[in-house]
Amino acid sequence: MATRKQHPRLKTYESKRDFAISPEPSGRAATKTGKSGRSHTKLSFCVQKHLASHLHYDFRLEYDGVLLSWSVPKGPSLDPKIRRMAIRTEDHPLDYGGFEGVIPSGYGAGVVLLWDKGTWTPEFVPDLPDVETMLDKGEIKFNLDGVKLKGSWVLVRTQKAAGSTRESWLLMKHKDFWSGNVDVLEVAPLSVKSDRDLSQILGESGETETMAEHPPAAGGDAGKLWREIIEAAQKPAPKPAKSKRRTTTKKRATGKSRTARAPVKKR
Ligand code: MN
Repeated sequence: MATRKQHPRLKTYESKRDFAISPEPSGRAATKTGKSGRSHTKLSFCVQKHLASHLHYDFRLEYDGVLLSWSVPKGPSLDPKIRRMAIRTEDHPLDYGGFEGVIPSGYGAGVVLLWDKGTWTPEFVPDLPDVETMLDKGEIKFNLDGVKLKGSWVLVRTQKAAGSTRESWLLMKHKDFWSGNVDVLEVAPLSVKSDRDLSQILGESGETETMAEHPPAAGGDAGKLWREIIEAAQKPAPKPAKSKRRTTTKKRATGKSRTARAPVKKR
């Protein structure tokens, strides 16, 4: 597998992780990317539902060969009246946008579900002519074309980073065809990559018992959610086995074998 030098924007990302333990992308895999965000016509974005010590949604926009990242505790809202706090976190490697799975221990230990993905387009205006200026001024207007999130959005910085404190931003939907009061987190909770929920991702990872022994959260809403998904992941029968199609096939098969057996008994 081809590797490349560390991207200058990924220093913090790499320093926080031990890739011998974490299945997350190292950021060193060769990826096709332009040098500047402006050279792309299609920039990727993704949202990862991440149950760790707290439940949050990681909102990521591709720029300059990395994914600019914000942690949104309550997740995105389609309601233009609702402002969602978004804490700026370290830039992530581009291939993190396809990541889904279980981080068994260490930084961010928990379950990651790829909740949405697609492309984003910055909305340049005279005052904000490029992404670097948008980041500097703390106002990013953009359009999303994802599976779940679409239309016009804005990220506005409310508090600049001081010392080790992270920047505080707000994520808001602009009023348009794609806005409304539907709770998109409730209506569309599953992965856009695998169609699974958190407990299925955990159950199929082989890490259920590890997480059951040391759940990243014990109290509060996150603790309750951990108990629920661990219990669901420990159930032996996977949900897809109960599908209607298989039941029908079984019934048909039983019927056939009875018909086949009957003449044998007569003899
Ligand atoms: Mn996270």
